Amino acid sequence: MDQQIVSQFKSQLRGQLIEPTDPAYEDARKVYNAMISRKPRLIAKCADVADVITAIHFARQNNLKVSIRGGGHNAGGLGVCDDGLVIDLSPIKFVHVDPSTKTVRVGGGCTWGDVDHAAHAFGLAVPSGIISTTGVGGLTLGGGLGHLTRQFGLTIDNLLAADVVLADGTFVVASAKENPDLFWAIRGGGGNFGVVTSFLFQGHPVHTVCAGPMLWELDQAADILKWYRKFIVNAPQELAGFFAFLTVPPGPPFPEALHLKKMCGVVWCYNGPQEKANDLLRSLRSSHPPAFEFFVPMPFPMLQSMFDGLYTPGLQWYWKADFVNELSDQAVALHVKHGSQLPTLHSTMHLYPINGAAQRVGNGDTPWAYREALWSQVIVGVDPDPAKKDEITAWARNYWEALHPFGAGGAYINFMMEGEGEERIRATYRHNYEKLAQVKAKYDPDNFFRVNQNIRPDAAAKATV
Ligand SMILES: Cc1cc2nc3c(=O)[nH]c(=O)nc-3n(C[C@H](O)[C@H](O)[C@H](O)COP(=O)(O)OP(=O)(O)OC[C@H]3O[C@@H](n4cnc5c(N)ncnc54)[C@H](O)[C@@H]3O)c2cc1C
Repeated sequence: MDQQIVSQFKSQLRGQLIEPTDPAYEDARKVYNAMISRKPRLIAKCADVADVITAIHFARQNNLKVSIRGGGHNAGGLGVCDDGLVIDLSPIKFVHVDPSTKTVRVGGGCTWGDVDHAAHAFGLAVPSGIISTTGVGGLTLGGGLGHLTRQFGLTIDNLLAADVVLADGTFVVASAKENPDLFWAIRGGGGNFGVVTSFLFQGHPVHTVCAGPMLWELDQAADILKWYRKFIVNAPQELAGFFAFLTVPPGPPFPEALHLKKMCGVVWCYNGPQEKANDLLRSLRSSHPPAFEFFVPMPFPMLQSMFDGLYTPGLQWYWKADFVNELSDQAVALHVKHGSQLPTLHSTMHLYPINGAAQRVGNGDTPWAYREALWSQVIVGVDPDPAKKDEITAWARNYWEALHPFGAGGAYINFMMEGEGEERIRATYRHNYEKLAQVKAKYDPDNFFRVNQNIRPDAAAKATV
């Protein structure tokens, strides 16, 4: 590419343009998952909407592939691409809370830690995930599930509007009133439809929650899973708890005797007073006393950042996922078998409950087509050492292959690696896929935004919703 053209592009941006020869390049091309190493031609750190528009025009004029980067957390590294232009939104960072409407306006480059920090001061939170360093952009556009899902729904259920720069560089607002088809599509359809430069969310009263892990020995795992599968389905929606197989981290608050021990556990979050939480968990504590628990009142942002220190950027990650309707005894036995063989300290399996408030929305109301599912299951092989890549990958794949026949069919799009195949994407969107393909054809007919879990434009697709 002509250096003069690049220099001209650079001069048009408020943000930084990073080239492979720049000292900042090596850091700027890294994503959270160190298994991914891609070398873009250019990285545009966009400072504002104007930079995003300029970057899109530049990519079009120069026939460059584009990837959109929010927090850089995507499992498959979809925020970065080889030989193309990365539209990096990380400088677009602002959070404005309107206490009168309890709404929260969030810049496209924010992480959930930014949102939690700002909203907490007003006694509010937006339903998100379980780690504060995850980007708002990717998590929201794929759906968003976490500690508050049972009480307030998925992140997309709390999205009121978004500012979007489309594939032709035009700027639009997507909401129930403006461009409603686009608004429908971005609530689960990922980064297929445009670059979201800001999100408007409904916040909810959440301040101090009673939260933290309870752990049990592995020989109790089958019993705990069988208790959990019944309990969480009927529990009040203010209570969330995801089940995990884990290796106890070697540090506080865990007692030394448990350090590096493989165990199972539930990480709870109760949005209410401690006495009520204790009432709800009393029978569990007496029938299955945990080997350890750290279930205490804490500010919501503290819960959100509880695992940040363990899961730092730069680890190797291999992900496999499914939605789950039912945990049969056979599935429980297979979970115990594979969950007991965690290959490394960071590897884990989580079963996130997605029942409750998320089920108030219909299967065609947003692209999220598994509202009836009870859990979103994810198996992640994780380790700092690149030499362990094959081992963690094989463990996660074997575990997933054993449990996949017990799954509901699709999987959370944000828990998939790149290249799982179009069939997996179709299985995930089910009857919504055709409508997504139509909306894609309207807003991005050339598939300009294709570094994502791609929905191919198809104006003639026969939408059934
Ligand atoms: C440690 C860890 C914990 C996680 N926990 C949870 C969890 O609890 N709940 C949950 O729901 N998910 C969770 N995830 C998954 C997470 O939702 C996805 O990885 C998501 O893609 C991350 O978003 P990001 O902006 O950081 O990603 P990026 O890698 O920056 O972007 C991923 C893709 O999202 C799209 N995108 C991002 N921002 C924008 C934007 N502003 N406009 C248009 N498109 C955009 C693009 O297509 C891009 O390719 C977790 C991931 C990790 C690594």
